[in-house]
Amino acid sequence: MEIRSKLPRGGDTIFSVMSALASEYSAINLGQGFPDFDCDAELRDRISHHLNDKKNQYCPMAGLFSLRKTLAFKIFNLYGTKVDPATEITITAGATQAIYTAITAFVHEGDEVIIIEPAYDCYKPAINLVKGIVVPYVIKGPGFKIDWDVFEDLITPKTSMIVINTPHNPIGKTLKSEDLLALNELVKGKNIVVLSDEVYEHLIYDNAHHQSVLRYADLYNQSMAVYSFGKTFHSTGWKIGYIVAPQYLMEEFRKVHQWNVFSVNSFVQYGLNDYLKEPNNYLHLPKFYQKKRDYFNNLLSDSRFKPILSEGTYFQLYDYSEISDDDDVTFAKRMTCKYKVASIPVSVFYSQKTDDKFIRLCFAKTEKVLEKVAELILQI
Ligand code: PMP
Repeated sequence: MEIRSKLPRGGDTIFSVMSALASEYSAINLGQGFPDFDCDAELRDRISHHLNDKKNQYCPMAGLFSLRKTLAFKIFNLYGTKVDPATEITITAGATQAIYTAITAFVHEGDEVIIIEPAYDCYKPAINLVKGIVVPYVIKGPGFKIDWDVFEDLITPKTSMIVINTPHNPIGKTLKSEDLLALNELVKGKNIVVLSDEVYEHLIYDNAHHQSVLRYADLYNQSMAVYSFGKTFHSTGWKIGYIVAPQYLMEEFRKVHQWNVFSVNSFVQYGLNDYLKEPNNYLHLPKFYQKKRDYFNNLLSDSRFKPILSEGTYFQLYDYSEISDDDDVTFAKRMTCKYKVASIPVSVFYSQKTDDKFIRLCFAKTEKVLEKVAELILQI
């Protein structure tokens, strides 16, 4: 049979490529973004409790209501915004599904969607699948700042969505209050939905406050904000998250959600609800991860890699221009084979080739692993 592929340029992602290379060469894998430590035993206990308590049938389509209520409380405490758990929160099968469903629900054929590159890799294929047009706004290191006057030039009558991501994967930078206010000015009064990927909301450093779209009433009125329990609770394999949006947007979102997921696995939702009732279970995270960032940076202070200080996420970029003229894919592959440390080359997050020399490392690892990696990197 002849197949007309809907994603003809698909294939292995750089994450699979680098992870395969890491295992082939017995390298330590700081490429793919996942912790090498487990989630809290209490969370596991709560989830097993509900599994054994036979919470094994369908939850409501939008998710367990008590969990949505707990999330509304968390949102109010963190961002000062009252959201209605009945109409403004939906539990999803991870952030990826929330993003995919939001794009499917709002982007029509020929619509333009502005994304900020480097961009996390699940946005573009989803836009392509609904025949939207990807319009990249490119930011460059080491500052990776958005010039909102230049950004404005990309907005046309065909723009139906803008995707933002803060804290940002892969660059580890955060949007500031002035960024969100500028964005608000640009979308005000236009038929543009802001899709805000905030999966690293709790991984933010140096006493900064996460600038969620939920903090800004006008902006929230045109936005959908996406979160991931996998990122927050060191359990990336569970694939469970949620999306928050004003009712008129959420109604459209749920029309699609009910036909591609209906409802997310039940017992994990019950367990998360118990665990989220204690705010310290997430409020300790900035300190926990900042300690790792700082520990790793100290270990690498004599290396020839120049760090681009991570303001959020569990990633940090390193500039290797003092070490090699190789492009970043070649460099990252060579570093994996020869020095046994796998990373992710940053150019893969851009649509157009770039000559920048940055690799991304994930520091969500035990101190022992970070020490071993530092030992290897100091030889480069
Ligand atoms: N957005 C960003 C920026 C991410 O880094 C990730 C996970 N790597 C996701 C979304 C997807 O999250 P989930 O695993 O919950 O689907």
